[in-house]
Amino acid sequence: MSRIVYVNGNYVPENEATVSVFDRGFVMADAIYEVTAVMDGKMIEFDGHMARMQRSLDELGIAYKVDYDEMLAIHREMITRNNLVSGGIYIQITRGNPGDRDFLFEDGDAISPTIVLFTQEKPDPRNNSNMESGWHVMTMDDLRWHRRDIKTVQLLWPSLAKTAAIRSGFDDTWMVENGTITEGTSNNAYIIKDGVIITRQLSHDILHGITRASLLRYAKDRQMTIEERPFTVDEVKAADEAFVTSASTYVTPIISIDGVNIGDGAPGKHALELRQVYIEESLKAAI
Ligand code: PMP
Repeated sequence: MSRIVYVNGNYVPENEATVSVFDRGFVMADAIYEVTAVMDGKMIEFDGHMARMQRSLDELGIAYKVDYDEMLAIHREMITRNNLVSGGIYIQITRGNPGDRDFLFEDGDAISPTIVLFTQEKPDPRNNSNMESGWHVMTMDDLRWHRRDIKTVQLLWPSLAKTAAIRSGFDDTWMVENGTITEGTSNNAYIIKDGVIITRQLSHDILHGITRASLLRYAKDRQMTIEERPFTVDEVKAADEAFVTSASTYVTPIISIDGVNIGDGAPGKHALELRQVYIEESLKAAI
């Protein structure tokens, strides 16, 4: 079934949707994006995604003010028009089309941003054995730029790293910088040792995951101790459990790294419990 996508105010069949070849999103990766998960036809953590989207736009000086009500209406229209029950809604906002390729761009609102949305169907997370049975990860150097807190579409390195993982028989890559894990190719990374959740602190080094913020809140509510600091590959190998979080993986256990089992090589009990808690709680708050 052909999807209906959104381009600059219009809902059009995907094969009729166009964006200029001079769009800065295309020639410069001058664009930001968000992905909001959809479960039972409702959006998970929509407010958090919209807040982070505004922050990414502001950090790059893309002159676009997110109108919450308008965005909510567009996202909901996309769910309806595409009969989306389980999956995600992707939104990308580029600096726009200046009419030519040029490194220099005009200040402020001289260019009108391009806005594109599309939906992607994915299995219901409550019924996804690939995620529940846990992932095997490998490691690679983190060769991304140093503003990973801005959710730009410069995804070449994570895409190469994800592809390398799958082609080598793994499920994902954890990226390493100065001996410590930064994050997965499109998720935040955690280990658990002696009941303590360890995850890298927020900085320019990692994306400030919307799922991460809620997960840590739910863990605190359950009296779990959290240490926000970088951790090494050796610490992962010696950990009791590991997992990742994101809008598309929710909470997914990690069961080995570079071929070394984590804990007993099966999904950890805390990781599985947090997965269930996260899904239940976020469904309650879904809109
Ligand atoms: N880190 C990176 C690099 C990501 O691409 C993502 C997914 N967007 C995340 C972390 C997780 O963020 P979120 O929980 O907001 O999906």
